[in-house]
Amino acid sequence: MDTLREFLAAHGVRSKSGKLLGKEAVAQILTNPIYYGHFKYAGEVHEGTHQPIISKKLFDEVQAVLTRRFRWSKLKKPIVPKPFSGLLRCRECNSAITAEIQKGHTYYRCTKKNKACRCTQPYIREEALDIEISRLLSPFSLKSEWADDMLVRLDGERKLDAQASNIVVAEKRAGIAQINARLQRLLDGFLDGVIEREVYAAEKAKLMSEKKTLEEQSSALSIGRKTWLEPMRNWILDAKSAGEIALTGSRNEKKVLASKVFGSNLVLDGKKASGSAIKPFALLREAATNSEMVGVTGLEPVTSSMSRMRSSQLSYTPIGRKG
Ligand SMILES: [Zn+2]
Repeated sequence: MDTLREFLAAHGVRSKSGKLLGKEAVAQILTNPIYYGHFKYAGEVHEGTHQPIISKKLFDEVQAVLTRRFRWSKLKKPIVPKPFSGLLRCRECNSAITAEIQKGHTYYRCTKKNKACRCTQPYIREEALDIEISRLLSPFSLKSEWADDMLVRLDGERKLDAQASNIVVAEKRAGIAQINARLQRLLDGFLDGVIEREVYAAEKAKLMSEKKTLEEQSSALSIGRKTWLEPMRNWILDAKSAGEIALTGSRNEKKVLASKVFGSNLVLDGKKASGSAIKPFALLREAATNSEMVGVTGLEPVTSSMSRMRSSQLSYTPIGRKG
C-alpha cells in the first residue's frame, strides 16, 4: 500500500495539500468500478459509456489482494442494510417503524414519535419480521399457468387493439382528407367568383372546425391506445414472481414487492404485521378467495378481473427484476 502511495505521488497523484494520498483514498481508487467501465451514482452501479482502462478480471484480482491485505474495518464501519426500515407503521401510535442494530442483530421498533400516545409496542427481530412479510406476500402470487395465460390474452388484446384503432384512425384520416378536398373546392369556387365571400367564410369556418375535431380524435386514438396494457403486463409479471419472492427472495425484493402490494397500509402490532392490499393486488386476493377462480371455467374470471383492472385506471410501475 505504501509503495502504491509513493508510486501515485511520483506520477503526480497527491492529496490536495501535496502530500501522499491516504491509505483510504488509495483503497477507494482501487475499488472504484469506473476503471473497468461501470460507475456508482446515488449508491447504485450503472454501466458507463466510457472506454474502460482496466479489465474486470484485473479489477477482481485487485479486490482479492485487497481483502487479503487491507483491513477496511479499521477505516470505516461496514454499512448494515436495514431492508424493512420505513416499510411499516405502528398500529398503536401510528409512528414509523425503524431499524436498530443491537449486538449484531437488526431489530425493528416503533419510533414513538407520537407524544400523545404512550406506545407500548415491543421490538421485533429482523428474522421474525421477514417471516411476517413473507406470510403477507404469499397470497398475492399469481399461479404461473394463469399468469402465462393472461399474458397470452393480453398479447391478443394488444393485437386486436392495434387493428381496431388502426381502422378508426384510418377512417378519421379519410375524413380529414375529404374535408381538405372540400376546402379546396370551396376556395376554387370563391376565387372563380361563384361563391360569395360571406358564404365562403362561413362554410370554411364550419369545415375547419370539423377538421380540427377529427384531428384531435385521431391523435387521441394514437396516444391513448390502451395505456393500461403495459402496466397490466408489468403487474402480471410481478404477481407471477410474488410467490417466489415470498419464498426465496431477498429482503430487499420483499420490501419492494410489499410496498407495491400494500402501499403505505402495512402496520405492526405486537410483532404481527398486517395490512390491506391496494389495487390491483387487492383484486387478485379477491379473485383467489373466490371459488370461481379455480373452477373448470377458470379462464373466465381472469377476463373479468382484467376488465375491472382496466377500468380502475391503474398506474403501475414494475418492480425491478432479473432477466
Ligand atoms: Zn408505536
